[in-house]
Amino acid sequence: MPITVVGSIAYDAVKTPFGERERMLGGAAVHFALAASFFEEVRVVGPVGDDFGEAELDVMRRRGVDVTDVERVRGGKTFFWRGEYGWDLNSRETLDTQLGVFEGFQPKLSERSRSSDVLFLANIQPDLQSEVRAQMPDARFVALDSMNLWIDIARDSLVKAIASVDCVILNDAELRQLTAKPNLVTAAREVLSWSPPASQRASGEPRGPSVVVAKQGEYGAALITRDSFFALPAYPLETVIDPTGAGDTFAGGLVGYIAAHPREELSDELLRRAMAHATVLASFNVEEFGTERVERLTGKEIAERIDVLLEVTQFSGPALPLRY
Ligand code: AMP
Repeated sequence: MPITVVGSIAYDAVKTPFGERERMLGGAAVHFALAASFFEEVRVVGPVGDDFGEAELDVMRRRGVDVTDVERVRGGKTFFWRGEYGWDLNSRETLDTQLGVFEGFQPKLSERSRSSDVLFLANIQPDLQSEVRAQMPDARFVALDSMNLWIDIARDSLVKAIASVDCVILNDAELRQLTAKPNLVTAAREVLSWSPPASQRASGEPRGPSVVVAKQGEYGAALITRDSFFALPAYPLETVIDPTGAGDTFAGGLVGYIAAHPREELSDELLRRAMAHATVLASFNVEEFGTERVERLTGKEIAERIDVLLEVTQFSGPALPLRY
C-alpha cells in the first residue's frame, strides 16, 4: 500500500576518512524513499529550490517514486547540510545547515498523498510533523523520526507528535535524552506510555506509539513493544564509506516492509522481518557515498543479504548443563 513521506530533500557535503563529496543528493525523505521503493509506491512531499536538478528528481523517478508533491519554490535554495565523520565513523559533526526553502515550509498534502495508508514523518520540526499527521487521520500505520536538535529546543512539541504515531524510530542516545532514562528498554517503555488511554480517546483519534525502534549505528538496532524485545546486529561489513542517510534508509526498509503487508497484523513476527529488511537496506547505503549504492541496488542483492543475516543471527543446540 502506498507510502507518503514528508521530510528533507537536500544537497549534502560530506567528508569521511575515505573521501568526500561537495554536493550530492541527500535528505531524509530521499534516502527513505529510495529504500522503501523496493516494497511499495512512495510519494515524497517536501520543498526544493530553483537549484535542484531534474537529474536528482530522476534518481527517484527511476525507482517509481512519485515526486509530484515535491514543491519547487521559486527563488529559493534547496536545503543544504554539511557534515564530517571521525576516523571510525561513529562520531559525526554537523558543520553547516542551511534551511533554505525549508524555512517557510508549510506542508500541504495533495489528495493523492493524503490517500496513502502509510505515513513516514522524517526528521523535521515536530509541529510540522503533527500538522502532517492531522492531514492523514485515516493512515493505517504512521512512523516518526527525529533528532537531538528537536529534543533540545522543542521537546514538548515532539512528545505531542510522538503521541500521534504508531512507531517511533530514534537513535539510542536520542531515546535516552528524550526520556532522561539511562536504560534503553526503560526509555523505550516510557515512550510507549505516551499514548492517550483507550478510555479517554475519541473514536478516530490516534492510538499512540506501540513500537519503538532504537538505532544503534554499527551495533544494529533494537525493537521494543509493550511486551516484547528484539534486536539485530548490523549486517557484518568490511567496508563502510559513508553512513549518511543510513538511519533514513533503515526506516525506509522497515516502514516499506510493513506497508507491503497490509493484511498482516502488526505482530512481533512481521516486525522482526521488517527489522531484517531495514538492517540489510541500511548496510548497502553505507557502502558508498550518499545514495550512490542504493541507486543501483537490486532486489536480488537484498534477498541474498537477508539470507546471510538470518544465518549469522541464529544458533541452535541445547544449553550445556552448567556446573553451578
Ligand atoms: P541520517 O544520516 O540518517 O541521520 O540522515 C542524514 C540526512 O538527513 C542527510 O541527507 C541530510 O540532508 C539530512 N539532514 C541533516 N540535518 C537535517 C535537519 N536538521 N533536518 C532535516 N534533515 C536533515
